[in-house]
Amino acid sequence: MKDKYLIINAGSSSLKFSLYEMPSTKEIVNGYIQKIGDSDSFYTLKYKGQKVDKEREIKNHKQAVEVMLEELKENKFITSIDEIKGVGHRVLHGGEYYSSSTLIDEEVLKNIKSLTKLGPLHHPGEIAGIEGMMEVLENVPQVAVFDTAFHQTMPKKNYLYAVPYSWYKENGVRKYGFHGTSHNYITNKMKDHLKKDDVNLIICHIGSGASIACIKGGVCYDTTMGLTPLDGLIMGTRSGSIDPSILEYISKERGISLEKITEELNKKSGLIGLAGKNDFRDLSKASQKGDEKATLALNMFYNSVTKYIAQYYFELESEVDALVFTAGIGENAYIFRENIMNRISKATGVKLDKEVNESIPSKLEKGIISTEDSSFEVIVEPTNEEYMILMDTYNVSRG
Ligand code: AMP
Repeated sequence: MKDKYLIINAGSSSLKFSLYEMPSTKEIVNGYIQKIGDSDSFYTLKYKGQKVDKEREIKNHKQAVEVMLEELKENKFITSIDEIKGVGHRVLHGGEYYSSSTLIDEEVLKNIKSLTKLGPLHHPGEIAGIEGMMEVLENVPQVAVFDTAFHQTMPKKNYLYAVPYSWYKENGVRKYGFHGTSHNYITNKMKDHLKKDDVNLIICHIGSGASIACIKGGVCYDTTMGLTPLDGLIMGTRSGSIDPSILEYISKERGISLEKITEELNKKSGLIGLAGKNDFRDLSKASQKGDEKATLALNMFYNSVTKYIAQYYFELESEVDALVFTAGIGENAYIFRENIMNRISKATGVKLDKEVNESIPSKLEKGIISTEDSSFEVIVEPTNEEYMILMDTYNVSRG
């Protein structure tokens, strides 16, 4: 009987899960339960190259967990629930409580609940997933892996906003940072690659959500996302940082509430707000065909990334070991990387190896896209948040 670990990503009406065998890290099956709470709930299981769809009413997250376990047993992915040695939960916000993944007990659950105000879209679903699991798998260690935890090493001068200090002390207003699991994974990869622990890095996690982290001496020193994932870079549908006065102004001008404005800043801004498209491939095609809005949006996007690379280059006093590109756009779009390299090359002394850059990912999955005479390495490294969550779950569960 091999030890099995479950990784859970719960949303308000959905539950994604993957079952792994450890220590081999082999994925046995993954599933996606959707429309929890509706009469037309359904789910998908994927294993051994096949995909199975099923429909069944699932009233709540607890029932979703029960259905998941039934499927795992019926399909003989497990013979008994005793084989499950740990469950990892992806949790958006650990506030200032958690700087690493942690075993969930009543106290931790209480803290996660108290952070719902900082993660109102994510926490209710995640909490329902944790509670469902804790009820059904009472004696199995449950681990919370926080998107914010990795950034807790930021110094105060980098995480405070210049607002009344009481907003921080009494209301928790500060930069928390997100995508921490990905930035942590890449940092570890770079420590291996550079064969040292005290690495200085600029990590560009550029997907439809995007953030850059500045790593100094092997730990997070600064990052672009803030109190929420809305801050920082221009993203697929998020504005990134803007003049905060726009909120009151547009509320009065258009007669819309703050909630509505926040929603529009999250879902209707960024690339989609500028050009009507948020997928990088669609935007690139449109731009090539002469769509001026697409070209403008892409240029603003490239400049936004360049601006933070420049800031972090200076924060690291130009002592950079590597600049890393990761996530959907960072890993796949060579044209994106070329545009960024063209903007930073002269000032930083890094030069693009065009041939290597263009051969990723069609020929290579990862690689060094800077020339040998560059001042530091520029690397494409695929991120793997799931692996990081699995390893944390495995390690924390075993104590
Ligand atoms: P993510 O949120 O990390 O899944 O990244 C999604 C973004 O990556 C979207 O804007 C996609 O257009 C972009 N993307 C994914 N694959 C490619 C590709 N092969 N070439 C260019 N962009 C890509």
